[in-house]
Amino acid sequence: MFAGILINKDESGYRASLASIDPAQLPEGDVTVAIEWSTLNYKDGLAITGQAPVVRRFPMIPGIDFAGVVTESRHPGWQAGDKVILNGWGVGETHWGGLAQQARVSGDWLVPLPAAFTTRQAMAIGTAGYTAMLCVLALERHGLTPGGGEILVTGANGGVGSVAIAVLAKLGYTVVASTGRPEEAAYLKTLGAAAIIERAELAAPGKPLGKERWAGVVDTVGSHTLANACAGTCYQGAVAACGLAQGMDFPASVAPFILRGVTLYGIDSVMAPRPARDAAWQRLARDLDPARLAAMTHEIALGEAIAVAGQVLQGKVRGRVVVDVNR
Ligand code: NDP
Repeated sequence: MFAGILINKDESGYRASLASIDPAQLPEGDVTVAIEWSTLNYKDGLAITGQAPVVRRFPMIPGIDFAGVVTESRHPGWQAGDKVILNGWGVGETHWGGLAQQARVSGDWLVPLPAAFTTRQAMAIGTAGYTAMLCVLALERHGLTPGGGEILVTGANGGVGSVAIAVLAKLGYTVVASTGRPEEAAYLKTLGAAAIIERAELAAPGKPLGKERWAGVVDTVGSHTLANACAGTCYQGAVAACGLAQGMDFPASVAPFILRGVTLYGIDSVMAPRPARDAAWQRLARDLDPARLAAMTHEIALGEAIAVAGQVLQGKVRGRVVVDVNR
């Protein structure tokens, strides 16, 4: 038997509990993994609390990511003993996920653990950090370079925001962090933010075009914040949108796009193809300072994940939460 968080939905309601699970119940897949570390991402918070219909099959083990060691493989790319990372692919939504001691998945979904990282560090980065890197890569492909102007990061204290700040600052960009928790300014500056602005400056309905300030944007928040970020982006600047912490709506005008040539990049980590994943993890190994990663990481035991999931959604958790599934 192995320990895992199990979500059930039936006549008595929607509930998550810590359970003892028979390995014979593991889903189809050609690779079995002994999980060492998982994480709590925003989406895991939604899944565990049931606040949004993230889970589409029951019972479900949540956890959209994990890092661990292959114990059995029928996949040509993997053998027992390989250290692997999984992000997305519907794991924790339609296929049993990472908040457990074991997982069985398709070998096509796995990426090798970069030599630079332990499995704990990989999950300190997690899907949030890998998504932050996908955002940075989109801005780089657009042609942004350090010294080219300020980069706005919204939802700065969150997992995506924290990693985006740390990576962009290490690369030499001038990062402005937008947060609803200005009391965390010292933390954000430790990560590398050059300046802090209040979330409220961007969160309310704004004008179609504002003063040109941002060379680029990493937005984790959506809604009016994303609209205002686009309205404040400089001529031919770029915005990478990956999140919806404020809302899924996008109450914007086309003005920034047709009058300033602003480009809006959509960032999806879940179904991203393998080359994009490999590129992101390789760049994380190069461009994320391990000391800054440690500064943003908070560790919990598997049994604490249900309680902390609610705090993630309330925006009370700073940086990243790693889950020791064997504790
Ligand atoms: P976290 O919960 O760690 O961080 C979200 C942050 O957003 C909070 O820390 C807070 O930052 C800010 N925030 C929270 N509520 C609001 C609000 N009502 N209005 C404005 N800002 C708010 O989440 P993650 O960093 O893990 O994820 C961020 C977003 O990115 C989520 O929406 C998530 O679903 C999405 N995501 C998307 C992925 C993709 O593939 N597209 C992959 C990973 C994440 P502060 O206190 O500093 O203001």
